[in-house]
Amino acid sequence: MSSLLERYASVLDEVRRSAVAAGRSPDDVVLLPVSKTVGADAIRELYQSGVRRFAENREPVLMAKCAGLPDDIEWHFIGPLQSNKVRKVVSAASVIHSVDSIPLVERLDRISGEENRSPRYMLEVNVSGEASKGGFPVGELPAAAAVAAKTGNARFVGLMTMAPLGAGHDELMRIFGALRSLRDELAASLGIDLPELSMGMSGDFREAIACGATMVRIGTSIFAGV
Ligand SMILES: *Cc1c(COP(=O)(O)O)cnc(C)c1O
Repeated sequence: MSSLLERYASVLDEVRRSAVAAGRSPDDVVLLPVSKTVGADAIRELYQSGVRRFAENREPVLMAKCAGLPDDIEWHFIGPLQSNKVRKVVSAASVIHSVDSIPLVERLDRISGEENRSPRYMLEVNVSGEASKGGFPVGELPAAAAVAAKTGNARFVGLMTMAPLGAGHDELMRIFGALRSLRDELAASLGIDLPELSMGMSGDFREAIACGATMVRIGTSIFAGV
């Protein structure tokens, strides 16, 4: 059994090598450890070796971990965001990956202003069209992005997606490539910068990085067995 630190180092190495293999700089891809299955001790162990970003998908867990861990951690929220949880999430998270409705865009921006916070956020897109998946259907994305482009407290920085479980290489390339194209088209049509593409998990981050991912969200490969 390898240790947590060894697994983190090995995933980081693979993320960086995938970037280089895609002709990109290894520094262009941020590895986000998804700590949702582990307690504060495992997070602290990585923190002590210099890791400063972690991702959580549930508001109560985010709040509990945030309260008990050092202030200089950059928390990412990646789960379904209920409207009555926005104020708490905004108080804790610097980046929100999973904004999935126009009312939520508006609420996030208003509450960010009230709380004097300026989180970066992404719109989640259901590229694969699976009924069970969250995120904007592709056809509804342009209208949402037009609203998001006008937010001034919370900052719209890009798109996020999740690929279907068990998708093969070609399907992954198609889905992640589609998110990148959507981002490129929106940035051009709205005349804004949309630098971030949050895509790729333990099983599919190599394809995501090949297609331009700037943030990969990895849980199992780092934390399984902890
Ligand atoms: C849990 C989770 C991940 C991490 O998935 P792994 O397959 O464990 O790497 C990534 N993104 C989201 C939104 C998640 O909920």
